[in-house]
Amino acid sequence: MTQILIAEDEPRIASFVAKGLQANGFTPTIAVDAQETLSLAIGNGFDLLILDLGLPGKDGLEVLTEIRGQGANLPVIILTARDDIDDKVAGLEGGADDYMTKPFRFEELLARIKLRLRNSNLAASQEEMILKAGNVVLDLRSRKATIGDRIIDLPVREFTLAETFFRHPGQILSREQLLDRVWGYDYDPGSNIVDVYVGYLRKKLGSKLIETVRGMGYRLRR
Ligand code: CA
Repeated sequence: MTQILIAEDEPRIASFVAKGLQANGFTPTIAVDAQETLSLAIGNGFDLLILDLGLPGKDGLEVLTEIRGQGANLPVIILTARDDIDDKVAGLEGGADDYMTKPFRFEELLARIKLRLRNSNLAASQEEMILKAGNVVLDLRSRKATIGDRIIDLPVREFTLAETFFRHPGQILSREQLLDRVWGYDYDPGSNIVDVYVGYLRKKLGSKLIETVRGMGYRLRR
């Protein structure tokens, strides 16, 4: 179990990140202010911290300094609305491993989380790196899809959409869930982009792989 602490006081963002992490096999915990973040981040076995800078109680940069000061060396990704270069420099100098600004897309956050975990040698054993459905293989390490010896070219969105299906074989995924996971929370829910991309995947990976469940969404055939 890879445990991720989310220090975030905006409930919508916190739950968006938590849901996405859960869907990808991580165990998220939410801390809503500086005090809670400090008490949880130190000595509780978390594998990574996602840190908002605008936290109630204390500035996120101070929280980071205290965490590092107490010897906690878990990877920290700052996730903040502040896009000032000074804040970024201060965050990275203060011991953060990465820095992302809001608004953000979940897939990018996830990619950065995986990278940090991989760097700290935690992920490899805990994460399935090869996903299969029928004769299609997704290699999450190289981000490549193959059918037999043939490499299928999937741009990042298509790959992420395929990965989302492959992680939930047999499960119905609604358009909103797929939008949320692949395109991020700020995407127009009325868009038909999911249908368009499912069409791309069917064309490239096989027309029978993903079935339409009328009125509900899509499902990867087992
Ligand atoms: Ca905040």
